[in-house]
Amino acid sequence: MSYASWFEEHAKKHTKIMKKLENRSDDEVIEYFTYENMVKNEPDFCPLYAKNKKCHDMDELNCYLCACSNFRFDDAGFKKIDGKSLKSYCSIGSKDGRQLKGKDAVHQDCSKCTVPHKKSFIKKGFKRDWLLIMKEVRKDL
Ligand code: SF4
Repeated sequence: MSYASWFEEHAKKHTKIMKKLENRSDDEVIEYFTYENMVKNEPDFCPLYAKNKKCHDMDELNCYLCACSNFRFDDAGFKKIDGKSLKSYCSIGSKDGRQLKGKDAVHQDCSKCTVPHKKSFIKKGFKRDWLLIMKEVRKDL
């Protein structure tokens, strides 16, 4: 699956949930997106829910900012690095992020970074429209 198709599908899922939460406050919305609640009430939001797994091993995992607003992607590639196409990177150069180098492409690996799953980060840039938070993430938007 390309980054763009995942992004579009995820935006739809997010919007659908937010419609249900129209009458809740911002804090209540963020609370709703805690992992434990999402597993129970939004089983289709993330494929890991069915396996009862978390993407990151943390006690208070919040799913509102899946994906991360610091992520940058371009399915066509931003540039070439050692002959491989750079498809994604972290705009803040998080010390917990890595580059994953494949045969033809380089991808951002966020598996060790918990930044977007913390409530404090979510609250700082909170908007009810996920696409507005993510407006810098996708190069062609
Ligand atoms: S490394 Fe961390 S801060 Fe950077 S894009 Fe990935 S999750 Fe976001």
